[in-house]
Amino acid sequence: MALPQEWMDELLSKNEITEVISSYVALKPKGRKLWACCPLHGEKTPSFSVSPDKQLFYCFGCHAGGTVIQFIMDMEHLTFIEAVKLLAERAHMELPEERNDRELQRLRAYRERLYAANKAAARFYCEQLLGPDGQPGRDYAQKRGLVKDIILRFGIGYAPEGWDNLMRHLEGQGFSEKELLDAGLLVKNPTSGRVYDAYRNRLIYPIQGINGQVLGFGGRVLDDSKPKYINTGDTPVYNKRNNLYGLYMQKGAKLADLIMVEGYMDVIGLYKAGVTNAVASLGTALTEQQARLLKRYVDTVYIAYDGDAAGQNATIRGLEILSHEGLAVRVIVFPDDLDPDEYVQIYGKSGFDALKSNAYTLNAFKLEAMARAYDLNDENGREQFALKACTFVGTLQPVEQERYYKLIAQKTGYEIDSLQEQGKRGEGYSQKPMVFRRGTYRRPSAQEEDQKELLLRTMLTSAVKDKNALAALKAAGAEEVLSEPYGSLFRALDQPGFSFAAYVGAQERQEAEKLTALIRDEQNMVEPEKTAMDCLKRLQQLEQEEKLSELQRELKRTDLGEGERAALLKQIADMIRAKR
Ligand SMILES: [Zn+2]
Repeated sequence: MALPQEWMDELLSKNEITEVISSYVALKPKGRKLWACCPLHGEKTPSFSVSPDKQLFYCFGCHAGGTVIQFIMDMEHLTFIEAVKLLAERAHMELPEERNDRELQRLRAYRERLYAANKAAARFYCEQLLGPDGQPGRDYAQKRGLVKDIILRFGIGYAPEGWDNLMRHLEGQGFSEKELLDAGLLVKNPTSGRVYDAYRNRLIYPIQGINGQVLGFGGRVLDDSKPKYINTGDTPVYNKRNNLYGLYMQKGAKLADLIMVEGYMDVIGLYKAGVTNAVASLGTALTEQQARLLKRYVDTVYIAYDGDAAGQNATIRGLEILSHEGLAVRVIVFPDDLDPDEYVQIYGKSGFDALKSNAYTLNAFKLEAMARAYDLNDENGREQFALKACTFVGTLQPVEQERYYKLIAQKTGYEIDSLQEQGKRGEGYSQKPMVFRRGTYRRPSAQEEDQKELLLRTMLTSAVKDKNALAALKAAGAEEVLSEPYGSLFRALDQPGFSFAAYVGAQERQEAEKLTALIRDEQNMVEPEKTAMDCLKRLQQLEQEEKLSELQRELKRTDLGEGERAALLKQIADMIRAKR
């Protein structure tokens, strides 16, 4: 839309900059300027200035500045044209196009009809979910932890079984078949010409534009059938590449950053846990338009995609698009292939915040992704990874290099200086690698057996003589963590007249040898009771960890039903809470 210069002049003269800005923040005169604490960034001493002579503003803190239009763009997160419209409205001016363009007016009126149809549909779906026919939807919503508050906040609904529920309802409200088809609410079978509801027996997530209009819908099946999601395609009022789910919820919020997630349920799950600044791309890889949209709200974006391989690849593409738009980007990496929703169900907001504060930079994430391709438990794998990683780090700014060499050193156990030297050789030398000097690389080892022995040994030296210590260990559950032959020995310890020699003598040879080994170093035991108790705690902890990782492995099974998955997540969450 080209705006005539004289119209723009009129707009600016009717929107005097100090008047407009005064409606957001109190300005105090000092010298030729007016001052305030900057409404665009948080501060305690005023560095935000407005010059009435020049009709410009400038902040010495965050370096924002420009005309009144720029101020409205920054303040309201609007595009240029949206800011112009807002100021025109404020000055009761008509936009030039509105004066003469009949066709444009007709188009705009038609778009308004589609918005209205979408809004009526959203209301219908929501009423269905909460009404007498909504039981299947409510059962599913309950399984996913969608409480009524959340349902209302996100306008979640339910499209009941049947071909024409919505059609009949909206046609009854005066919407035409063409309008409903154009809005994507109905579909037409191209062969038979039959027209029917686009969403049937699905949970419905309305997609709202930044001004609150309902643009389209995502519909999810209630079971494991395919396709899992149906989303509104391109319509006169909706283009998935230009919008972000959840962005509307950010209106009016003071944002430090935004969290970019993959799906509706991630936005909602995080919101429920208290992380209210998440948005999702809508069934598409992140686009440039979406990155520009984000840039209007924040300077920093955290990518929080699924931990699986597809999610990781999407992350790298997303990182590049966001950095290209000038956004600072960090990556939150979820352990155990969990998605953000699952993660906060288990670890809560505090767990998420901890992950966020440890988020990866773009380069660190690239190194992590590189490391995934190699088996770092294998010498050869570590060397191959180190070569590739050093070549990459060698291309970075010198100040950045140091911490990334440190990261490679941690992963491979090679000395930093030999890694640095490799990095200096650059790409061309990667085929003729130097030999890395080995640092301290420790492989994680199972300590369970050691702990059991130590526990038994301390019990033999002390508990055998001290019935109270034995009782304390028993009460703490020592018996459950001990395998044979140790468990039997433990049970025999408090029998009247117990003699270790006699007990061992009665055992088979193999067991007898194991048990005899326990009394080595008997005299060297310091604080046996405390040692025994520590051992026991550690054993129980190891057992819990083993069980936890078993449940987490189970969670990765692809054939899990919704219900099984939810039950597993709950079990894991309970275990982790108990651990704290
Ligand atoms: Zn500022």
